[in-house]
Amino acid sequence: MKKQYGRQLDETIDLAMRLYQLPSIVKEGQEGFEHVNECDYFKKADGTYLRGYLIFSTTLIIEKGVERELTFSKEIYLTENGTLQKYYSYAEWPYCEKCKKAHSYVHREVAKDQTLTENELEKIEEFITNSLSLIK
Ligand SMILES: [Zn+2]
Repeated sequence: MKKQYGRQLDETIDLAMRLYQLPSIVKEGQEGFEHVNECDYFKKADGTYLRGYLIFSTTLIIEKGVERELTFSKEIYLTENGTLQKYYSYAEWPYCEKCKKAHSYVHREVAKDQTLTENELEKIEEFITNSLSLIK
């Protein structure tokens, strides 16, 4: 893997890549519910699904109602090739009568600006370090 984020973070990422399970990244749809599982995933050039692990996100509530909630998130995924990728996602949270809770319907896109701030890199390092100490 090419070194790209500074030695310490690169090492942390190397370790995370060995220990994390990387699920496919959802592009559009409802994730993770048995009775609603219709998702479109990001694909790589070879047609297979891009896998990654969500390591950092900030979420804003845009609308909060009784029937549903709307949120906007900035997210950073550690992708299977060891790079950090920024996404924006809009999620709608309609209430499901069947499960008696809200499910999220997500629309996610790759951020045009992939610049990572010092602060974000610090948060990422902190997150991975903390999560790995839980696994150990
Ligand atoms: Zn449900």
